[in-house]
Amino acid sequence: MAIEAHILGTSSARPTATRAVSGSIVVTDEGNFVVDAGEGFQSRFAQQRKWLKQYDAESSIRPSKIKAIFLTHGHLDHTWGVLPWLQSMSLDGRTQPLAIIGPTTSAVVEALVDGVIPEDVLSVDLYNQFGYWISMVNHEQPLPYELTYILGDPTSRRWVQLDTKGHGKLLDKSFSERLGLSTIEIEAFPTLHSVPSCAWSITQQQRQGAFDRNRAGELQLDEHQKSALSAGHDIEHEGTMLLASTFRGPPKPALRLVVSGDTAECSPSLASIESCNVLIHEATFIDEQQDVADAFLHSTSRGAMKTARSMNAQALCLTHYSNRLSETDVLIQEAEAECPDIVVTAADDHDRIYVDDSGEVVHKYWNGNGWMN
Ligand SMILES: [Zn+2]
Repeated sequence: MAIEAHILGTSSARPTATRAVSGSIVVTDEGNFVVDAGEGFQSRFAQQRKWLKQYDAESSIRPSKIKAIFLTHGHLDHTWGVLPWLQSMSLDGRTQPLAIIGPTTSAVVEALVDGVIPEDVLSVDLYNQFGYWISMVNHEQPLPYELTYILGDPTSRRWVQLDTKGHGKLLDKSFSERLGLSTIEIEAFPTLHSVPSCAWSITQQQRQGAFDRNRAGELQLDEHQKSALSAGHDIEHEGTMLLASTFRGPPKPALRLVVSGDTAECSPSLASIESCNVLIHEATFIDEQQDVADAFLHSTSRGAMKTARSMNAQALCLTHYSNRLSETDVLIQEAEAECPDIVVTAADDHDRIYVDDSGEVVHKYWNGNGWMN
């Protein structure tokens, strides 16, 4: 009933002694989703699983529950961990299907739709990386699980599914339909970076309110009557009509979590999002490096806050720090100076961002022997 992101890497470009490169896993009721998987992702994932077993056994991030890997862009600090992890899941006997989805150029998409092999594709483009992964994972024997590669242009919202020969077919379903999700909506929003890039939005749709068991108990309704009311059917009870609608509390709000990937501040597409509970956004630089941020299409924490404000985010969680940054306090201060009304926190590796059933956002900090709020 809630959404939770486990942030497994918070360094930009290259790892430091205490921070790994990008990679997160988002846990929902209908399955788990990885957003980016830089170098060493599988080790951090295994470490997080171990710590969860040790310190919070009720939460789990089992690999079998992962339905898709969403990539924000093709830079290697966000993708280098995918291939070895695909092999490990194979060795672990995974059987559940898995989709890998990421952005490319419109030229690649249109060439694939036309049945033509795309030309002049940037080496780092996900089209090339996917092709490499397809040939590598199949080179000895086929994988024991179905692996689907989907590439698309987040601006035109045209996505193609690749076959093992690198040919593409236009995806005629939403991501939710393709992944068999009924209450979780997945959307890609184009962002501003030096290669095709997008943010990923994961929404748990609004759900009906809780059934009023107390009232049903007071009226001494039997199980048959309770299940009829719970299913939305009005019933007659001792000469009175009982309306199913009066046995439900207020609807539970939709929950939305957005992960930015690498981007300059204030992408217009993100501003089109009317609201979200939490935005997990890169903050590569501090204020005085604004010109570097602009030049390399990254954000400062102030810029991340501007983006958060443009999409009415209730909370902002910073990540993806330059490895020259020794501590994150300055990032928080500069973001707060931009907008004191949005709660801002800075993630460290293995922190968790929890959006509860009512939409409240809790940052659970990893402290070496458990998580604290
Ligand atoms: Zn990056």
